[in-house]
Amino acid sequence: MHEIGAKIAEIEQKIKNKAHLVAVSKRQSNEKIMEAYRSGFKRFGENYVQELVGKAEELPKDIEWHMIGHLQSNKVKYIAPFVSLIHSVDSFKLLKEINKQAKKFERTIPCLLQVHIAEEDTKTGLNFEELDEILESHETKNLENIEIRGLMGMSSLTDDTRQVAEEFKSLKAKFDQINNSKNYHLTELSMGMSGDWPLAIEMGSTLIRVGSAIFGTRS
Ligand SMILES: *Cc1c(COP(=O)(O)O)cnc(C)c1O
Repeated sequence: MHEIGAKIAEIEQKIKNKAHLVAVSKRQSNEKIMEAYRSGFKRFGENYVQELVGKAEELPKDIEWHMIGHLQSNKVKYIAPFVSLIHSVDSFKLLKEINKQAKKFERTIPCLLQVHIAEEDTKTGLNFEELDEILESHETKNLENIEIRGLMGMSSLTDDTRQVAEEFKSLKAKFDQINNSKNYHLTELSMGMSGDWPLAIEMGSTLIRVGSAIFGTRS
């Protein structure tokens, strides 16, 4: 009956204070989200703007909503008033639009830059060169209504644990390099999903995004 709350408690027990959990509720019902909420959990991640906006309207206002899916610039305005963290910033154009909308709503929107670490071409994200370009650009430093808080990455869909570990390790190394440069103080490294979060934590993740392992298969 309280299965969802128990699953969340189990994961949180294992990650202790090493990382925070984002429960990925995309294509899961409001009932299931409320089951998690009633167990005391308030941090959820969504992939689709329309679904996110609908849920944010219908569900309690103290939920912390994270946008983790690919985001189109023309849809930023719908989530700008309330989103807590955007994990999936994959272009300078998008970052500028987030800044513009955040300004309109008189707030700062925390962002993570999504980096492509997987083997497959299908997964979106910046390569290291594009990432450096954004971080080093003067234009970025002038965006006053966004806060670049860290990096996000998705590993390859493979059973090869060694490869996944290498991918996470490369992102952690980049994260450390950026922090060592002293131009940024990044605090969040978002990596790890249902199938690979324990490994991601070992490799230095501070935010894991877990969906099916909590809520079951999606509709
Ligand atoms: C769907 C999704 C997740 C969660 O995936 P699960 O395998 O269900 O844990 C995490 N991150 C992103 C970006 C996703 O799209």
